[in-house]
Amino acid sequence: MSIIEEAQKGNITEEMKTVAAVEGVEPDFVRRGVASGRIVIPVTPYREIRHCGIGKGLTTKVNASIGTSSDIMDIEMEVEKAKVAEAAGADTLMELSTGGDFLEIRRRVIEATSLSVGCVPLYQAFIEAAIKYGSVVDMKEDELFKATADQAKLGTNFMAIHTGINLITMERLKIQGRYGGLCSRGGAFMTAWMVHNEKENPLYSEFDYLLEIMKEHEVTLSMGNGMRAAAVHDATDRAQIQELVMNSELSDRAHDAGVQVIVEGPGHVPIDEIKTNVQLMKRLSGDKPFYVLGPLVSDIAPGYDHIVTAIGASISSAAGCDFLCYVTPAEHLALPNVEDVRTGVITSRIAAHIGDMIKLGKRDQDLAMGRARRDLDWEKMYELAIDPEYARNIRNSRVPEDNEACTMCGDYCALKIVKENFNIAK
Ligand code: SF4
Repeated sequence: MSIIEEAQKGNITEEMKTVAAVEGVEPDFVRRGVASGRIVIPVTPYREIRHCGIGKGLTTKVNASIGTSSDIMDIEMEVEKAKVAEAAGADTLMELSTGGDFLEIRRRVIEATSLSVGCVPLYQAFIEAAIKYGSVVDMKEDELFKATADQAKLGTNFMAIHTGINLITMERLKIQGRYGGLCSRGGAFMTAWMVHNEKENPLYSEFDYLLEIMKEHEVTLSMGNGMRAAAVHDATDRAQIQELVMNSELSDRAHDAGVQVIVEGPGHVPIDEIKTNVQLMKRLSGDKPFYVLGPLVSDIAPGYDHIVTAIGASISSAAGCDFLCYVTPAEHLALPNVEDVRTGVITSRIAAHIGDMIKLGKRDQDLAMGRARRDLDWEKMYELAIDPEYARNIRNSRVPEDNEACTMCGDYCALKIVKENFNIAK
């Protein structure tokens, strides 16, 4: 029985109890969320994992995407990235290798982490076709479904599936055009295949068969945003909204078939369109978990795109988004290294927390930090910090004369002056 069926029968599973304990909510709240499709708990029959709940009423989760490219294929670095992402507090990983022995890399990454691991099986199908037949456009439809099942058996427990690239959305895109093109790799592969073969996307036309595979291996389906804009100027355009409508309809079919489902959202969105995107997605999908890729709120800050994303991710989370895909400082420039991954995870966790302060009213940690600062209690401040080690290192690198203050104001520490002269503590 799938976890949805268990939930609908009124059964509270171990996974639901774990999520409830972590989130500080009642197990039956989680059960009802899973039963209705408002919450997913990615599971897998193939390995032990740390279960995490994603969806309405739960804290915003952060995904870290890692993986090789055709230029940089270093298995040890990818394994290290997986470990660093988990240590930095990522909730899930996506292993998206497209270079080298990507099956071996995926196996090693999965072995190295207790997190849920997501993947995009069509990368494997298209890249293997390019190696075998000389071109991605020669991929056979069966190979796409075989790669999906093979990756599920490795223990990947959520998958981005690009159903939204189909003849209908492509027509919208053709009529309208784009300033910034199409940035989804999966979308680009599938578009090339469809145009060359003059055929519908098999993931869309054979969606019921896809669901059978997902259900058999208990994989959570993430409805990929293949039409996502690559520039803020193209955000919320007709092709993107067309895809959202179709993915929302398909997400209902998935849930009805007993397959847990997430709907993915856009990657480049100006600030004033974020709330609209979140509300539209939640309305159209019947409140399914919403996964945004970023979003980046400007296109002019390469090297700082983790910060640009954190601004968009905070607003998205505050507006009701459930799941954030991190962005690293290397975005749009290069394959992220280990330090980029760490920075990306921490930055997205900050954004998730800022959103949760609004969405869930989670402000206890900020209140405690305010008090610790007022009291100049440095150990307490480190304990409450999102990245204690980084905070401690900065202070220790510039040690103050007076250990109670810091070198920012030194002798004229405002907090110390007030503490010594005026008791306003609450
Ligand atoms: S020295 Fe200035 S910055 Fe440092 S703790 Fe005191 S008031 Fe804050």
